[in-house]
Amino acid sequence: MPSLFSPLALTRVLTTLPLAQGDVDYQVARRTDPDLLPGLLTRGKAVVILVRRGRVAVPRGQSLLAPRRAGRIRLATIPAAYLADALGLDRSGPAPEALYYLGSRQGADYLALDLGLLEGTCPPGAGEAGRLVDKGFDWVGLDGFAPHASPRQVGLATSAVCLSNWQTGQRFCPLCGSPVRAAQAGWAQTCVGRGVSHTLFPRVEPAVITSIVDADDRLLLQHNRAWKEGLVSVCAGFVEAGENLEHAARREAMEEVGVPVGELRYMGSQPWPFPASLMVAFKGRALDTAVRTDGEETLSARWVSRDDLVALIARGDMELPGRATIARSMIQEWYGSDL
Ligand SMILES: [Zn+2]
Repeated sequence: MPSLFSPLALTRVLTTLPLAQGDVDYQVARRTDPDLLPGLLTRGKAVVILVRRGRVAVPRGQSLLAPRRAGRIRLATIPAAYLADALGLDRSGPAPEALYYLGSRQGADYLALDLGLLEGTCPPGAGEAGRLVDKGFDWVGLDGFAPHASPRQVGLATSAVCLSNWQTGQRFCPLCGSPVRAAQAGWAQTCVGRGVSHTLFPRVEPAVITSIVDADDRLLLQHNRAWKEGLVSVCAGFVEAGENLEHAARREAMEEVGVPVGELRYMGSQPWPFPASLMVAFKGRALDTAVRTDGEETLSARWVSRDDLVALIARGDMELPGRATIARSMIQEWYGSDL
């Protein structure tokens, strides 16, 4: 697959987004095989990465060095055979709940061990495994990891963090309140409360984000109350219950900056697991340039030309969102190159 066009991209507008990368085949059909995880562990060929509370493990020192050099930051891995020993698993044993199957690529199978879940649920021997593997690593968030890692590694890390956020955040069934168990190699949960088994799947919270432009191709940038001084971005918000994406984009624009938006064009999407969002990006054409911020969430907003933006950044009066955000990619797409 040419790197010009990510396999996760639908359009050629935002061709590669920091958290929408990866080339691992999910192998969905294998997830329900009860032998999958014990088999991968004891055959010892799987690659195991580590996730805990929204962060992934990298070899100690990489989190400081990687951003300063051209080279890439890499995930720490541990041998599956070591993990099988540490967890006391044999081939007939139960699959540990804290292990997620991420898929395979070029003959390699990838697993994630969730130390956060291990610490919370602890099958026999897991406490010991947690202590053993929780050494010698730096822990980095996806926003720090993604801009400096390869597409495959970003894909693995993003899947692991999304599953971990959900599995650790939901330990009781939202339908009946009974405890749940991880199922389908981490991609589902099973609840057997009240004697009736049901399967639960991760909830994803869609949010729309819109770069609003006017007839002169100026971009509307806004500053929100919760952000540090000078930080600006484009218009964004969560999709309401029963709403479609287009309505959400136009409603948020009206609420935050008072601008009616006409034509909307889909640009791309990326997961944003903080903790469970999916960011869906549009470019919207303003029908009116008068700006009226809500004064609550959005404190200020202004139209900028490309020259304006460069000058504001150079003077230190304006700062753009981080490189892992879809907002940064959208602003750069409008500008025409990296900023
Ligand atoms: Zn239930």
